[in-house]
Amino acid sequence: MKSDNAEPFAFIAVNDLVALTRGRSLPKSELNLNSGVGWVPADLALNAFGALADPNPFGALGDLRLIPDMSTKAIFRGKKYGRDVEVYLADQHTMDGKPWECCPRSLLKNALERLKKDHGLEVIASYEHEFVTKNADGSSLQGSPFGLDGMLVTEPFGNDVWRAFVDAGIELENWLPEYGAGQFEVTVTPQNALKASDQAVMLKEIVRHVARENDLRATFVPLPHPEGVGNGVHVHLSLKKDGKPATYDPAGKAGLSKVAESAFAGVLDHAEGILAWTAPSQISALRLTPHRWSAGGICIGRQNREALLRICPIPSGADPNKIYNIEFRAADATANPHIVMACLVNAMCDGLDRKLVIDHIVDDHIDNVDVPPLPTSLNQAIEAFKANKTMNSWFAKDLIDTHLGIRASEEKTLSGLDNPEKCARYAAVY
Ligand code: GLU
Ligand code: MG
Repeated sequence: MKSDNAEPFAFIAVNDLVALTRGRSLPKSELNLNSGVGWVPADLALNAFGALADPNPFGALGDLRLIPDMSTKAIFRGKKYGRDVEVYLADQHTMDGKPWECCPRSLLKNALERLKKDHGLEVIASYEHEFVTKNADGSSLQGSPFGLDGMLVTEPFGNDVWRAFVDAGIELENWLPEYGAGQFEVTVTPQNALKASDQAVMLKEIVRHVARENDLRATFVPLPHPEGVGNGVHVHLSLKKDGKPATYDPAGKAGLSKVAESAFAGVLDHAEGILAWTAPSQISALRLTPHRWSAGGICIGRQNREALLRICPIPSGADPNKIYNIEFRAADATANPHIVMACLVNAMCDGLDRKLVIDHIVDDHIDNVDVPPLPTSLNQAIEAFKANKTMNSWFAKDLIDTHLGIRASEEKTLSGLDNPEKCARYAAVY
């Protein structure tokens, strides 16, 4: 290794099945873009607490290469850093140079190709993240719900995040103090679904890093405490055909175009199994209950913050073709964004293949309508996934086995803990 302090480190990274970013670094000038850096298949079997799922399909065998996508660059600067750390997300390739069948980012690329090839559609997306900040010693920050005081008390944190987003090519839309003490929400400009998912990975790393630099701690844990507010990851989705918006049709049900209706009917149809991937931690289901403004039932609702799919409002004066979008509310930060999006896109493809329709748009409070409940536990979602042959066909068998192995290993690690303790264990990681 050269020892030129000015030269940045390049950290070649993957986001894994527990949504943690792992990888290897080297001086940037030594990075070979074609052969990337080495990697190990079993790394995919790490659970949130750093243990390998046992058994897993890989064991001690095999090798991979991480091939960086240089367009994903995010720069991490630190007060004490001798050199910047540039992070690049990578695709995982086998030794013969092909995408690895278990690579989450490649899974998403395949799903997007399928949607394009079979239906001529592209997905535009934006991830909305919530997180809670605390002082470095773990004490809570003061601030009233949505209050200016809550925002100002953490400054210059917000300003620093904004700058770091600019360095990473992420366009900030809103930075807002949320309901909980020290809780924030961050929304970014919609992008194509791959870029939006890449940014969802980087965004969390940036927020956590900038928080540490400001002597704060930020956690995206789905639920810091069972009695407290949740941190959601809401995925805003719209469709494009031939480069033009294709989600809105004033003559359609609640403004849904025919293709959007079938696509989102596909998401509703597979919702139970989807949750095994989008809300995959042992505490994720605790957040997904009515009256938490997360998601309280399997339905699509107009401007309804308890519907699994929320039809977002069109402000007067805005062009509905550009603004109209549907929000999937049942993801959280313990889920890999590429896999979240791959599930949604594959479900859309299936809805379109089968020309599914939506029977009912919910316009009332969730308590007043008869809609199927969401799975009440991860195991229930996993059983729904296992029974869903269509969903199983979206993934390589080794990927499914690894995912399920991780979930079983986390359940075992946390057995004997009560829910507040489980939340605390995850809060320390995310
Ligand atoms: N905190 C809520 C959740 O867990 C979301 C609140 C909102 O922004 O609508 O999803
Ligand atoms: Mg919010």
